[in-house]
Amino acid sequence: PPSSGAAKSHPRWSPPKGTMRENSFSPDIYRYLVDGSPVGLVLVRAGKVEFINRTGAALLDMAPASIVGREFLDLVQPHDRELFRGERLHARWGEVEFIPVDGRTIILGVRVSEVDYAGEPATLVVLHGLGDERPFALESAIRYKTLVEKLADVVFVIDLKGRIIFLNKGFTRATGYPRSEWIGRKFTEIVAPEYVELTLERFREGPPAGAGVAQYEIEFIGRGGRRIPVEIKVTSLSGADGDEIGRIGIARDVSERHKFEEALKRKNEELERILNTMGEGVVVLDHRHRMVSLNRKARELFGYDPEEIIGKDYTFWCHPDSFNTLRARLAEREKGKNGTYTARFLSKGGGSFHAHVTAVPIFDESGRFQGSIGCLQDITQELELFRRVEELNEFNRRLIELADVWIDVVDSDGNILLWNREAERISGYSREEVEGHAKIWEWLYPDPEYRREVWEAQKRMRLDDETTRWSERTIRTKSGERRIISWHGRPLHLSDGRDGWLIVGHDVTEERRREIRLREYAAEIERLSQERNRLFSMAAHELRTPLTVIRGFIDLIQHAGGLSERQRGWLGKAREETDRLGRLVTQLLEVARLDGEGRRLFPRYVRLAPIIDKVLHELGPVLTKHGQTVDYEPMDAEVEVYADPQAVEGILRNLLANAISYTPPPGGITLSVAVNEKTVQVDVADDGVGISPEDKPRIFDEFYRTEAGKRMKRDGSGIGLSIVKRLVERSGGEVWVESQGEGKGSTFSFTLPRFGEGTPDADTDR
Ligand code: ADP
Repeated sequence: PPSSGAAKSHPRWSPPKGTMRENSFSPDIYRYLVDGSPVGLVLVRAGKVEFINRTGAALLDMAPASIVGREFLDLVQPHDRELFRGERLHARWGEVEFIPVDGRTIILGVRVSEVDYAGEPATLVVLHGLGDERPFALESAIRYKTLVEKLADVVFVIDLKGRIIFLNKGFTRATGYPRSEWIGRKFTEIVAPEYVELTLERFREGPPAGAGVAQYEIEFIGRGGRRIPVEIKVTSLSGADGDEIGRIGIARDVSERHKFEEALKRKNEELERILNTMGEGVVVLDHRHRMVSLNRKARELFGYDPEEIIGKDYTFWCHPDSFNTLRARLAEREKGKNGTYTARFLSKGGGSFHAHVTAVPIFDESGRFQGSIGCLQDITQELELFRRVEELNEFNRRLIELADVWIDVVDSDGNILLWNREAERISGYSREEVEGHAKIWEWLYPDPEYRREVWEAQKRMRLDDETTRWSERTIRTKSGERRIISWHGRPLHLSDGRDGWLIVGHDVTEERRREIRLREYAAEIERLSQERNRLFSMAAHELRTPLTVIRGFIDLIQHAGGLSERQRGWLGKAREETDRLGRLVTQLLEVARLDGEGRRLFPRYVRLAPIIDKVLHELGPVLTKHGQTVDYEPMDAEVEVYADPQAVEGILRNLLANAISYTPPPGGITLSVAVNEKTVQVDVADDGVGISPEDKPRIFDEFYRTEAGKRMKRDGSGIGLSIVKRLVERSGGEVWVESQGEGKGSTFSFTLPRFGEGTPDADTDR
């Protein structure tokens, strides 16, 4: 240091005996002492330099003569002049920057004392070079030392031969060695073998020129062989003459940082694993939308090896259909917007897939767009499903359109949402006219009262109540016609979440009209038949009394005597006709009573054989008269039928009488009985005039007679068979006729039930 150089050129100074007080020394006595002082001394009076010793001038690197007489503060850098005001440098060392002489900044340690100079106040400024240990080291060295020692890093100084000349406490903390063991040893000895070469090379190169710092990472071998990764920063250490005297360096233990980096790497790997196991594809694009990386799923989707697709922009991996979408969406990323959209992408080999994309932009700390991350969800299958549903919907639409029922859908306010072709056809109103509003209901139901009723009923419909869903209403069509529609309504959840109604209608106008006509017919028939019965019974009752009277008088005249043979003949004829009229009246009455509940049947279990015997016996004389016989194999006497015996008698008598009447003698009449499981069938067959196929359907009608019948028997009435039919049917049996045609005979058959209602089954013993 310059001060020590200056100090050496003077005789050494020995302090005088006794105590010397600084502020009372005399310049005369101590002049040489002052000049030989190893510290610089400047006496300032009234701001000007009064005196400067040799050491002071040397420290400022100026000739003493060029300093004396100048304003002292002019020698001080303006920013440090403040230090001299007040008491800041009094009895305390401070560092002051002085005006450089040849461009070098001179920093000197300074201490100031107020002194009495020849009876006047003056300021003594004590200067010393910073390399001067004696006065300065006492304080500043302590200060620097604490700093250096407290540093967590290793501070080392090595000389140009690579030997360690200084180590701080950080060395012990880092390596576990006491530093005294290492002073004087080669620096490379602490370095791990594989880094020795690198260290030597760096050492030889030296730090970059100027105040440059060389930086590199090596490992120390600490106590017990422990490796300590360190980041080394080395700079030159220059002597006072500016020559390099060694290197000062800091070694920072970076094992923590390495641990952190390791952890970061693991985190990244973990992230990568997560990305790879994700069901969604994840792609990262750079600022020009080129693929930077893609996870496993994305690789699967695209089908490319990473090398094939990385670096390619969307024109490579996006389907042309989605170019526009992609371009627009990527532009949004650049503006910092997140986004979700659906696009179609190309996969290797010409395939494609649809994906739902969620994308976020990436910006660096300074806000520059770096790229984007996109999450791709493969929705190809969903789209396919969606397409099928669409297809199905289309099919449904067509079905609804073509169905030959009126279908409409309304919302809860009655606005028409759907109106099919049949609705158009029946109502006469087109879809365009009715859709989107509720006016149709006024048109269909012009009467407000009726309309309200319809709408109320509609609202009462419930999902769980089938009965309220049907209703029949009369609408007025566009052409003004009234039509009856059978409605079936069903509450419906519309796709937009609202409630509505699905209404299906059937035009039942014709059906209802037919029903009405049928009901009218039935009523008319009923009325007519009642009228006829009334007429029948009235006529019969009216005729019966005079007939009895006539018959009485005929008998009277016959028995009165005095009549000629001829006259008796006439009377006989009259009597015959009267009898016939009487029979006719009886028959008419029978018909009227059978139809009008006047005649009630009293069915019971009764044996059939005795009834047959009785009727045959009664008809015996007639048979004899006609010269005929009935061929009858007597039936099982025990067989019973469940019927009114009087009715059975009537049936048999009528059929046998007809067989006798319409069969010319000698004729062959056969009566046979067949016992079936539940019925007994009786056949009365003859070989008489027979019945033509044309007559057959009407043979049981009242008053109907065949031509052959009329020729055979002039005085028939045509009522007998209609009574037979009524009796058989009211007994629960059936009656029919078979004939091969006119002249070929006929067989009348009827059945009777063997058991009455509520009777035991046939196989039970009764
Ligand atoms: P009627 O015998 O008084 O004419 P019916 O009602 O008993 O009245 O018979 C109606 C008609 O049916 C007869 O007039 C006859 O033409 C025909 N008919 C009834 N029984 C026979 C039969 N056994 N063979 C052929 N025709 C018959």
